[in-house]
Order: sequence, then C-alpha cells, then structure tokens
Amino acid sequence: MNLKALHKIGYGLYIVGSKRANRFNGQIANTVFQTTSEPPTVAVCINKQNLTHEFIKESRVFSASVLAKETPMKFIGQFGFKSGRDIDKFQDVKYKVGATGAPIVLENTISFLEAEVINNVDVGTHTIFIGKIVNADIIREGEPMTYAYYHEVKKGKAPKTAPTYIKEEKPKEAKKMEKYVCTVCGYVYDPDAGDPDSGIEPGTPFEELPDDWVCPICGAGKEDFEEEISS
Ligand code: FE
Repeated sequence: MNLKALHKIGYGLYIVGSKRANRFNGQIANTVFQTTSEPPTVAVCINKQNLTHEFIKESRVFSASVLAKETPMKFIGQFGFKSGRDIDKFQDVKYKVGATGAPIVLENTISFLEAEVINNVDVGTHTIFIGKIVNADIIREGEPMTYAYYHEVKKGKAPKTAPTYIKEEKPKEAKKMEKYVCTVCGYVYDPDAGDPDSGIEPGTPFEELPDDWVCPICGAGKEDFEEEISS
C-alpha cells in the first residue's frame, strides 16, 4: 500500500467560519465539497480539537469562504497556524456577518456560502458536518486556490527564481546560502526565492533577514528557524 496516492487527490483551500454568541472563529480547511445539488448541500471535515469545531457543533451553522489563488501566505497562516483560543482571528480582517450569523471573510475571497448543519458524521479525529446551503454568492471573479498550488508554489517549492545578477555579484568564496526550516509549521525559507509577500527580495540570506521578520505561514520569529539539513 502506498498512501502517497492520497497526495494526488485534488482539493481547494477555504476558510470555514462559525460563531458562538458574539464571538467568531474561522480556520483553514481543504475539505469543503458539495454533497448534493437538490437541495444544495455541502460538507466540511473539521478536526475535533479546533475551536471552529466547537462553534459549529454548538451553533449548527458554518460559512465557507473560497480563497483566491493569490492569497498571501501570511493571511493563510493567520487562519491556519494560529488558534482562536489565543487570538481573535477576525480582528484585522475584513468580513461580514452572514445570514446565519457566521462570519464571511471578504479579503482574498472569491465566493462564499453559508449552511445550516443537517447531519454530522463522527470520523474519529474529525467530524464531517453536512449543511444545507442557505446563502451563497460570488464576491469577485478570480481563480480559486488549489491545495496543490498552496503546497507546491506558495510553500517555496517553486522553481528557483534567483536573478542571475545576484549570483554574479557574489564573491566566489561566499558561503552557499542555506535554507532554513520553521520548526513550528515546516515552512522552508529559501534565500534564492526570498519572501516577496513580506518584501524580502530573492537572494537574501537568512542571516540578513530583518530581526522582526516572521514566518509568513505561522508568524514564528527567526529564533524558531533551524538550518535545513540537506541530505
Ligand atoms: Fe512557521
């Protein structure tokens, strides 16, 4: 058996939101899919440990905001690698309260839907919530982010983009620029690619990153990075 076969399944990337009283929470999820068209229903698969799970279980409503392809990693990190138990994820994010009362993210979002839970399935670590869609709309035209794009391109595994002039400028004895791995989320800082979302140009060694630079995915500081051991 080769479970890598599972990596070939295609997904999108979404913010699934819900509410508790006046409090909102949302999280990144790749498992949002339409289950029937008549009536229109949708399923989401949410980890039982997440605050969003608690909120959906109690409120019986959820929203799903479909992220655009160009969504910055920092934005994804805000919802994906932080817990609503520690921060209010919606504090600095543009959103609106939907018909169900669940929050709909308006930034980096191309469409959304809201649903009322009609069924749920316990699948061990996760719960699949199935909801009847009660509200949905397009926010703007654009391409949705796919899970494959998020992993392959946004996470720095893109083809090298270092401009050749940088290589020519480097003295021959210059130490090879090393990649650094975030010990919190696994993001790899590749000096050849830099971190354009945060204004870091390609060709910037890890050592020369500003002290206040943080992991674009999870927000961890430079001190949480380790040199990547290349095999
Ligand atoms: Fe990180």
